[in-house]
Amino acid sequence: MPAKLVETKHLGTSKDRIAALERELMQLRREVGLLRGLVGEVDRKVSAKAAEEELVEYRGALFRRKVTGGFHEEVYCPSCRQPMRSPQNELNFNCRNCQTWVNIKGHELPEVMDKLRRFDRR
Ligand SMILES: [Zn+2]
Repeated sequence: MPAKLVETKHLGTSKDRIAALERELMQLRREVGLLRGLVGEVDRKVSAKAAEEELVEYRGALFRRKVTGGFHEEVYCPSCRQPMRSPQNELNFNCRNCQTWVNIKGHELPEVMDKLRRFDRR
């Protein structure tokens, strides 16, 4: 039965093609997975770098730069980078997250911010 033989052969060829395509698909999926991982890693590094440049150290504390220039009137922890609070606006700023204290009191903040702005002028 020559017709049947041709058909079987054709099917065999299709199966081979499908198998080859499936292998190729698996390979491409692996590569996409690897590339996604790399992109994620680069993305994290760029974000970390940008966040680092955004924060400026002054008098032992960190201050966040505004995109439009100047600084946000908030003190950030030099250890964990979380916002710090000054109890009653009189005591030194401290971090509730990691208990770090800095040598700036709440009522000194406007003066510190003013000096920081002048210090930062380039
Ligand atoms: Zn902290």
